[in-house]
Amino acid sequence: MAIVEHPTKTGTLSSWQHSLKIAFRDSWQLLKFLGLASEPAPLVANDAGSNLDSNGKSRHLYSDIGSIQESPFALFVTREFASRMRKSDWNDPLLRQVWVDAKEEIVTPGYLKDPVGDSKTELAPGLLHKYHGRVLLVMTGACAIHCRYCFRRHYPYSSAPKSIDEWEPALDAIEADNSIQEVILSGGDPLSIVDSVLSQLLDRLAKIPHLKRLRIHTRFPIVIPSRITSRFIDILSDSRLSKWIVLHINHANEIDDEVYQAVDRMRRSGAILLNQSVLLEGINNDIDSLVTLSEKLINANILPYYLHQLDPVQSAAHFEVPVAKGKQLVVEMAKRLPGFAVPKYVYEKSGEPNKTLIY
Ligand SMILES: *Cc1c(COP(=O)(O)O)cnc(C)c1O
Ligand code: SF4
Repeated sequence: MAIVEHPTKTGTLSSWQHSLKIAFRDSWQLLKFLGLASEPAPLVANDAGSNLDSNGKSRHLYSDIGSIQESPFALFVTREFASRMRKSDWNDPLLRQVWVDAKEEIVTPGYLKDPVGDSKTELAPGLLHKYHGRVLLVMTGACAIHCRYCFRRHYPYSSAPKSIDEWEPALDAIEADNSIQEVILSGGDPLSIVDSVLSQLLDRLAKIPHLKRLRIHTRFPIVIPSRITSRFIDILSDSRLSKWIVLHINHANEIDDEVYQAVDRMRRSGAILLNQSVLLEGINNDIDSLVTLSEKLINANILPYYLHQLDPVQSAAHFEVPVAKGKQLVVEMAKRLPGFAVPKYVYEKSGEPNKTLIY
């Protein structure tokens, strides 16, 4: 995954592009910001911030983070997101989502680079056709945050299309198959792409007569709420397609006033808002975190859609919650929440015709 900055025509950056530019890319800077720079990280059980690198050298004491930064999926977190982390707390559930733990170097048998079999379902470059009636367009490798458990962390983004012209084969393939009713813009994060280009793409999609629905999978409204520009809302509002936006929020602390406002702006385009979460060890694998998250979502008119069992992606095994524990949590959630606030607990199995419900 790469971080792409898109200079505008005038050479000035819009507010959200500026947020990308000043985001934390350096573990040391993030630790200083959180008041953790002089706190030794806990080493045993709760070691989200393990301070030993693979040679046993302390990361933060020597501030020897060069090797981490060179990784293709380096630390990357916006100031907006970091400002919602609790200070001086290695166990903060937002910090744990982005902290580059030494455990990422552990090679776990059965944990793969392409755990969900994406590469086998590619219909055209960047176009995945896995499920009936809907296709997923991998529009960019860029995200506004690097979630350490990401199942696409090893996706070969460099071979995916980069411009409207390069998407033509994918668009032609959608046009040629009138069983496709829904296009899912995904990535990476499709809102990494500037409004002018999104606008062209949405126009092009709306011209395909058998398309009925547009879905956008994005984390931008959480990590950079200012990405939800009035231009973007106009572009969405203008589309004839039925609009569904799937957010990605794992913990209630990710939602603040600016997020609420971004969500309200999106709703004004006529879009229906859903959320997907990943069940993550040490982040949301307890009943109170899950119930509080669902309550916060429905109070903001966002429907909890999926709770994903972690995909077995290499480098992320330390985030796994056993399925038996996940089932128990969902049973408990049902006792405490309105039926519509209990997300579907699912996992993705390569070759299956849909995501598989766990119950
Ligand atoms: C998850 C996914 C979808 C969407 O599935 P829904 O169950 O409709 O949310 C579509 N395509 C791919 C490749 C997916 O991974
Ligand atoms: S925002 Fe989504 S695609 Fe991007 S790193 Fe996080 S989980 Fe992966």
